[in-house]
Amino acid sequence: MSDPTNPTPPHAGWRLECTYAALPSLLHASSRPVPVAGPKMVIFNHALARTLGLDPTELSRAEHAAIFAGNDLMEGSQPLAQAYAGHQYGHFTPLGDGRAILLGEQITPTGERFDIQLKGSGPTRFSRRGDGRAALGPMLREYLISEAMYALGIPTTRSLAVVTTGELVYRQSPLPGAVLTRVAASHIRVGTFEWVAAHQDMAALQALADYTIQRHYPELATAEQPYLSLLNAVIERQARLIAQWMNVGFIHGVMNTDNMALSGETIDYGPCAFMDTYDPATKFSSIDQHGRYAYANQAPIAQWNVTRFAETLLPLLHEEEPRAIEMANEAIHQFPDRFKWHWLAGMRRKLGLSNEESEDAALAEELLQWMHDNQADFTNTFRALSQEKLKDANLPENEAFRSWHERWLARRNRQTLSMDESRTLMRAANPSVIPRNHKVEEALEDAVERNDLVVLERFLSVLQRPYDYTIDQSEFQMPPPAGSCGYETFCGT
Ligand code: AMP
Ligand code: MG
Repeated sequence: MSDPTNPTPPHAGWRLECTYAALPSLLHASSRPVPVAGPKMVIFNHALARTLGLDPTELSRAEHAAIFAGNDLMEGSQPLAQAYAGHQYGHFTPLGDGRAILLGEQITPTGERFDIQLKGSGPTRFSRRGDGRAALGPMLREYLISEAMYALGIPTTRSLAVVTTGELVYRQSPLPGAVLTRVAASHIRVGTFEWVAAHQDMAALQALADYTIQRHYPELATAEQPYLSLLNAVIERQARLIAQWMNVGFIHGVMNTDNMALSGETIDYGPCAFMDTYDPATKFSSIDQHGRYAYANQAPIAQWNVTRFAETLLPLLHEEEPRAIEMANEAIHQFPDRFKWHWLAGMRRKLGLSNEESEDAALAEELLQWMHDNQADFTNTFRALSQEKLKDANLPENEAFRSWHERWLARRNRQTLSMDESRTLMRAANPSVIPRNHKVEEALEDAVERNDLVVLERFLSVLQRPYDYTIDQSEFQMPPPAGSCGYETFCGT
């Protein structure tokens, strides 16, 4: 028994619930993080901690490191590994958290609920041949890019902390081990539903669907057809999310169904990267040999993924299967139009247009075609167009560009916005800085090889204000030097 006269140990604002653990046991396996030899804090997200209701000042650095390495458990935690399956490059596979552990759900001061998950915290029942561990470089990369995505205004999981473990992980070479603390609206994936559907467990399917509605779409609980409404809502959020990716040149790189979150957040920052030169066929992932997840394929792949989701829901949509299939098809066929709608709305903002004309999509597509023909940088072209003086922008101003530019100016004059207002609209839609691959690599190299976080921290602080158009961004704005294309990314490292 604890002594009631003793003050309670500092809880630093942790308020954990574990509703996921109450779902049918098919969906999870109890699993404790495996303690590490020498936990050490590398980076901590104070702003996110405050949003979560944590008070970082209540605990020492060492206490934090112990928590975020999984050596100490917060009160209320019921650590578990989530079960899920997924279509990886089109092939169905049973998966599950092989190197991640859900500690619980933090309830924030405003009553929001966020999963707190350790990634790289040791093997679980689902690890197969993996070691359950992660290396420092990829965890810092996820931290940097997920936080950049958040600042860009794109729904995403977030990163609360990275600690090193004091242990080595063995990949092609020995690397410093690390644990990332990931914060997510939830970790329910299309693949979670596929796992349950593959087990043909109707009770678990219904429980998971009801839980997903409760957690992410509570307004649908009382809908006439809640599960069809859930499908439609997931389609809408995914269509919007992919459009947001496209509008900043983000390439996810591994859009397997286990990496598509039903919350509509971007999840899994393994092989993702931002495009420099505009080319719709751009892909970076070394294992994506046929470009399945290339830039221009992201919307069709998302539709393919939500189709897999729809299949799992069939028994809930209608008791007669043919009718259920009809309902699912009707919903899925909305995807291209929903995507196009969001993409065009984003493009209008990027071009400083506040009203709608039927030729707007063509105007945007012609600019993209021009970028492709002239190997123009995607981000910097839109940044240049958002500046007052185009001549400073270093664009290849050939005849094709001048003709497009004239039509664009004429189009901007056919709206009630002034040119100044139009530019303000553009600057809120066109980031002046993104996590460029060569800059990410530079920052990570310093951090991992030399234990020097100065560049990483500066880069992070610049990425936190991507629409600011300030002078301190300039060192991060340059595209990679010519001839250095062929950037490659790697999965699950
Ligand atoms: P990802 O490529 O990160 O989406 O991971 C795909 C699957 O591989 C998931 O089930 C992961 O949990 C698992 N996995 C990736 N890396 C490891 C590792 N080092 N040890 C165990 N499982 C892993
Ligand atoms: Mg994954």
